[in-house]
Amino acid sequence: MSIGDNISRLQASIPAGVELIAVSKFHPAEALLEAYAAGQRSFGESRVLELEQKARELPEDIRWHFIGHLQTNKVRRLVPHVHLIHSIDSLRLLRLVSDEALRIGRRVKVLLQVHVALEETKFGFSPEELLAEITPDTVAGLPGVEIVGVMGMASNVDDDTQRIVSDFRAIADAFRSLQATVFASAPEFSVISMGMSHDWPLAVEQGSNMVRIGTAIFGNREY
Ligand SMILES: *Cc1c(COP(=O)(O)O)cnc(C)c1O
Repeated sequence: MSIGDNISRLQASIPAGVELIAVSKFHPAEALLEAYAAGQRSFGESRVLELEQKARELPEDIRWHFIGHLQTNKVRRLVPHVHLIHSIDSLRLLRLVSDEALRIGRRVKVLLQVHVALEETKFGFSPEELLAEITPDTVAGLPGVEIVGVMGMASNVDDDTQRIVSDFRAIADAFRSLQATVFASAPEFSVISMGMSHDWPLAVEQGSNMVRIGTAIFGNREY
């Protein structure tokens, strides 16, 4: 199957109201152009320099999503190009992005990354940290960012569907807690980014409205 066929097949099976982000990390510009020709406009990258390079080279109407761990020393390079940062994993990073956005006269949309997976190597706020640290005062003090939702990943356990479902449910619960409190009068707080090639149907069942799919579109990555 071609990249274009993969996009069409996914677009046909993903429910209305769920946005498909084509995760194009480590794939060359030509692969992205094939997806673009099939109508795809939202792409996800996990390295700042790669996103920057592709943003310069590829059509201007592409919306670039940053999904990898964001190092503080790369914020300045990312902010001019990015449509949505999925991976805000600390207050310090949130403040840096806000400051940099203000400095260049932008407001940047971001998601708060929630860590519920078994793997310690994954990044993000625990649900408890999220509720303790993201307060109305914090948000009011960060005019350079627009916090539009949360992002998370399930544990990397192929055959433990129960665990995957409970991870997704915990991420969606964290979203709903914030939505009912800090963001109660912020309709833009509406995004739950969860689900990848192997687990997106479970994520959608638990309330995801943004799925990040790489392998099922572009094939395996060469690291
Ligand atoms: C690579 C990556 C994806 C896509 O994973 P696939 O299994 O290739 O669909 C999604 N989200 C994040 C955060 C990633 O790093």
